[in-house]
Amino acid sequence: MKDALIEFLSEKGVLITPEALDYVEKDVGDINKLRSALSSMEEFPHILGIERIRPILEGEIAEAPLPKPSGEDNFIKVPEIPVKADVARPDINIIRDVTGKSRSTAKVESFLSTFKDRYSRLYRVLRAKPHLKYVRRIGEAVKKRGEEISVIGMVRDVKETGKGFIVSLEDPSGSVEVFFSKETLREKPLLDEVVGVFGRIPLSDRGKKPRMFGKRIVWPDIQPHKMSLSKEKVSVAFISDLHVGSETFLKDAWDSFIRWLRSPEARDISYIIMAGDVVDGIGIYPDQEEELEISDIYEQYTMLAKMVEEIPDRISVIMIPGNHDFVRPAEPQPAFDDDIKKLFSGEVLFAGSPSLIEIHGVKILAYHGTSINDFINVLPGVSYEDPSLALIRMLKSRILAPIYGGKTPLAPEKEDYMVIDEVPDIFVTGHVHSFVKSNYRGVKIINASTWQSQTKYQKMNNFKPDPGVVAIAELDTGRIYEKRFHT
Ligand code: FE
Ligand code: ZN
Repeated sequence: MKDALIEFLSEKGVLITPEALDYVEKDVGDINKLRSALSSMEEFPHILGIERIRPILEGEIAEAPLPKPSGEDNFIKVPEIPVKADVARPDINIIRDVTGKSRSTAKVESFLSTFKDRYSRLYRVLRAKPHLKYVRRIGEAVKKRGEEISVIGMVRDVKETGKGFIVSLEDPSGSVEVFFSKETLREKPLLDEVVGVFGRIPLSDRGKKPRMFGKRIVWPDIQPHKMSLSKEKVSVAFISDLHVGSETFLKDAWDSFIRWLRSPEARDISYIIMAGDVVDGIGIYPDQEEELEISDIYEQYTMLAKMVEEIPDRISVIMIPGNHDFVRPAEPQPAFDDDIKKLFSGEVLFAGSPSLIEIHGVKILAYHGTSINDFINVLPGVSYEDPSLALIRMLKSRILAPIYGGKTPLAPEKEDYMVIDEVPDIFVTGHVHSFVKSNYRGVKIINASTWQSQTKYQKMNNFKPDPGVVAIAELDTGRIYEKRFHT
């Protein structure tokens, strides 16, 4: 039934949000009503969200709000470029995010199920590695005196001693301390990462805790990856951290971005992904109100909705939240609630952070990037100016935010949504207000830039943001290039 509905809608060039699809499936169970309701409509919405579907199915088609005609906006009056006849139809699918699936109860026990899920997902990945073929449960492995053995465990502690490091690993069957000399452990594991260790259990064990001598440590990591390309000539623009409502929002840079989107040069751009902190929010840091131009959260989103209306109609906008947005700060963050969504005219697809989104067959992992703060503290070479090593480490450990109890608030969920199960073609974050584009084992890495100039806080910390940069990915060629709009 689901497939039939998706097929019917895609013939009409309509996108349906996962939520709306769920609603049709569970609460209505009959697509014929929707089909006939849609057939009688003169104009199709681009994106069919739950707020559009509900009135349609409840027989109030006449009252269902139609998207605003684009001539009505009183912003920039640049004529839109004519849409090409062969323009690609929207082809977008949210493969995985927490929206509508959160089972968080905020109890300590539920973190146990998050950990268990993280462990079993990454166990499957590590199990396939060449050095970890003969892996045993820790509880069993520690009894194998004098043998060479592999274990897979979650990192509970890393201590530096005079001669090397002691890494405490834990799995559901037990725990073990693994000693590594400085030469064997060139890269230290981070807390709460899941790693595999190949080593030897000593014949005699005088210590109280089970010990192992580590010879090699293996991360879940990704295999060299070949990017999937789209058949259609389409491009995605990546932006982040608009911070609408802040005094430091760069209106001029935004306006020139909009003018560019309306120019022939940008004709292949069919999608814009916004990687969170789309508004500045309220009460995010002390005395924030002094730096706000709009101090009401709903007015901030209303302003943003007006800005989104300036974007040419051929472009589908996908928005995920960040730590400044009006959703729970704990990650994984779900998509915005209906009271925010309804402020937008229905041309926007809302997803959670993180989200795995497939566009024309290309998989894009979008995550706001709050955990980069934790990486800056523990990983040499990671900075606000250049967070690329943090993104690489996320792909290597296959966890977007490994460390619990750091700066990143994490919610206990039955599943660990922060685990990178599927290797994406493009991985995008934002949050640190700098611009980076790089590549790790074939995965394209982007830290999308901001639309906010230097804040007081950043000035105090001597950080210069790199605003107004847009990364554009050509999905048919895999090329990524940048355009600068802040002068
Ligand atoms: Fe931000
Ligand atoms: Zn942020």
